[in-house]
Amino acid sequence: MKALFLIMDGLGDLRDNGKPTPLEMAKKPNMDGLAKEGALGQLHALGMGIKPGSDTSQLAIFGYDIMSEYPGRGPLEVLGSGIRPMPGDVCFRANFATADKSLRVTDRRAGRIETKLGKSLERHLQGIEIEGTKIVFRSTVEHRGIIIIRGDRLSGRVSDTDPHQNSGKVNESQALDTSAEAKRTAKILNRFTLEAYKRLNGAPENAERARKGLPPANMVIARGGGEYFEVETFRQRHGLKAACVAGGALYKGLASFMDMDVIDVKGATGDKNSNYANKAKAAVQASKTHDFVFLHVKATDSFGHDGNREGKASIIERVDKEIIPAVKGRFDLIVITGDHSTPCLLKAHSGHPNPFLAYGKLVRQDKARKFDEFEAMEGGIGSINGEDVMQLILNWIDKNRKIGE
Ligand code: ZN
Ligand code: ZN
Repeated sequence: MKALFLIMDGLGDLRDNGKPTPLEMAKKPNMDGLAKEGALGQLHALGMGIKPGSDTSQLAIFGYDIMSEYPGRGPLEVLGSGIRPMPGDVCFRANFATADKSLRVTDRRAGRIETKLGKSLERHLQGIEIEGTKIVFRSTVEHRGIIIIRGDRLSGRVSDTDPHQNSGKVNESQALDTSAEAKRTAKILNRFTLEAYKRLNGAPENAERARKGLPPANMVIARGGGEYFEVETFRQRHGLKAACVAGGALYKGLASFMDMDVIDVKGATGDKNSNYANKAKAAVQASKTHDFVFLHVKATDSFGHDGNREGKASIIERVDKEIIPAVKGRFDLIVITGDHSTPCLLKAHSGHPNPFLAYGKLVRQDKARKFDEFEAMEGGIGSINGEDVMQLILNWIDKNRKIGE
């Protein structure tokens, strides 16, 4: 039996002064149909009231222990960029930024440079070695990139050089614990920062930007440091061969961390213009060779962060029209939920649970008539935590092991 697991990122929401939630507003006859024939519940990914990031909540949902199996954001972004780090590598997310002579960051995104320029600037940052470690820098999309520090005696417990606001001086990375490894890693990152400034500030690409009156991309700032390590694969843990269909780098990285097969889909961009029909097609295709397909939709979260209720509802409607009919009947189980709530009222993640929908012939039907936060409160699945999700799914596709005789 095959399962489709659809995460609409940041799905759960709150009513605001009588305004309904995006799930209540959206016209979504297909999802409501699945709710009618299936069952609902409420998912607290990291536990009741806990406000999760997308990375930790999704790891928990896939049955990983975030206290011991979460490598930090940096390694996941590196994996998402298509590079597999080596165990022990310290990985960061990075931005090209604009800095002045005193290393004050005047634009954290260097005027949101294009991917092409990032790729061109990347070559100036090759071959950097500091204190016996090799530094790998890759540009990814627009002003974004990744940094890997590779060598011995390193630690991911170091603070960001990213000042997280324009007009802040670039931060000096600090050790976040008392270990010699953390101190050494912070020192190496700080030396890299100065070296990157030196090399980029003199780059011909930036001379050309100056001529055009554009801010130079003359600095690299780092955040989300973490040490990469390997974990048990999703298949080892759950006995399921899994594939991932996602646009955003973080989600591909998460899948790759668990050793799911990441399917590249044309037009899957991880934003509101993503091609959902192609994603649905890819998911159905993957079901022929995989037991479990993880399908991720990002734009619900992005509209939540913007506080755009109508925008969030429109994504739900698109998923309803472009994904659900294409996958219904192609899987023995369809589960739809979110990783955390991103209420438009808060424009941020929150600890409210997500509505959770399961549809399949082994799902015990409840009295639900439609799919939204309020109907989910009455659902037959009840309140569940992230760590329950894979157990439930395994039961619904009859692939769980019996305990005892
Ligand atoms: Zn999320
Ligand atoms: Zn978010």
